[in-house]
Amino acid sequence: MIELDGLTKRYGEKVAVNNLTFAVRPGIVTGFLGPNGAGKSTTMRMILGLDRPTAGDVRIDGTHYDGLRDPLTYIGALLDAKAVHGGRNAFNHLLCLAQSNGIPRARVDEVLDTVGLTSVARKKAKGFSLGMGQRLGIAGALLGDPRILMFDEPVNGLDPEGIHWIRNLMKSLAAQGRTVFVSSHLMSEMALTADHLVVIGQGRLLADTSMADFIQQNSRSYVRIRTPQRERLLDVLRGAGVVAVETGGGTLEVDGGKPEHIGELAARHQIVLHELSPQQASLEEAFMRLTAESVEYHAHDTAPPGAPVQDWGGDWKREG
Ligand code: ADP
Ligand code: MG
Repeated sequence: MIELDGLTKRYGEKVAVNNLTFAVRPGIVTGFLGPNGAGKSTTMRMILGLDRPTAGDVRIDGTHYDGLRDPLTYIGALLDAKAVHGGRNAFNHLLCLAQSNGIPRARVDEVLDTVGLTSVARKKAKGFSLGMGQRLGIAGALLGDPRILMFDEPVNGLDPEGIHWIRNLMKSLAAQGRTVFVSSHLMSEMALTADHLVVIGQGRLLADTSMADFIQQNSRSYVRIRTPQRERLLDVLRGAGVVAVETGGGTLEVDGGKPEHIGELAARHQIVLHELSPQQASLEEAFMRLTAESVEYHAHDTAPPGAPVQDWGGDWKREG
């Protein structure tokens, strides 16, 4: 378990991470979602003790990173794939890591096998492709057989096969009961991987919710309508107590409406429809809405710093 308590990081005037309080639990994949610059990497660096918090606290199984004996056996992380010493071969890179963390040499072969790098183990890491570099970074994270794993944007720049592999790896690590914390700026990626979501924007916590709840609360269904008799249809709908919203491109939208109902109303009044289609708002849109409003909130800031943002229509839980 990773526990953050009021975690804050300032760089001069810039508040990169603003009063984050949440817990990352074992047995599931927790997605850490936020637009670029939201503070994800800074948060992860503080978890690993690579950056000192300005305020607040973060603990790994109740202990600060610096207080862990052989930390690689508690928490493994992939922060930056390029952090590998390019002149060393993959085996030696991992062997050095193992030796400085009291991990047996045999484990190096095991993790090379897990990430599929056995055949290139004696090749220099600087000749590795981005995907191979990511795999080597992940091998390093797995080396100490830790109960907690953290991956910062692991699928960035990977081909579809590599992305698929990483997704399955994270799920299987969680299924083994481990704590898996993975960041991304892509909702579409998280939707396929994460069981739980922590969303941040401008360093602030915006949501801490199960993926299922997020989907349920954000899969807005609506009916899209196009008609050459726009004003007439609006009148008819209004008369029937149906609220239609005019959107760009000459279309109308009815939230939660039934296409059958709207189609029959239109037919009864002999209104021509060019389109009548049920739609589902994407999670990507929900994410954009959520984080866009965090920017707005920031612009005319009236609440005290760190107050939960609650005026974006959702009913987000702040579990903790
Ligand atoms: P993310 O990983 O979500 O894209 P980061 O944690 O990298 O976001 O960055 C959060 C904010 O903090 C950004 O505005 C970034 O410019 C700023 N920042 C990050 N590291 C530093 C640093 N070492 N010095 C100054 N500003 C920084
Ligand atoms: Mg980052």
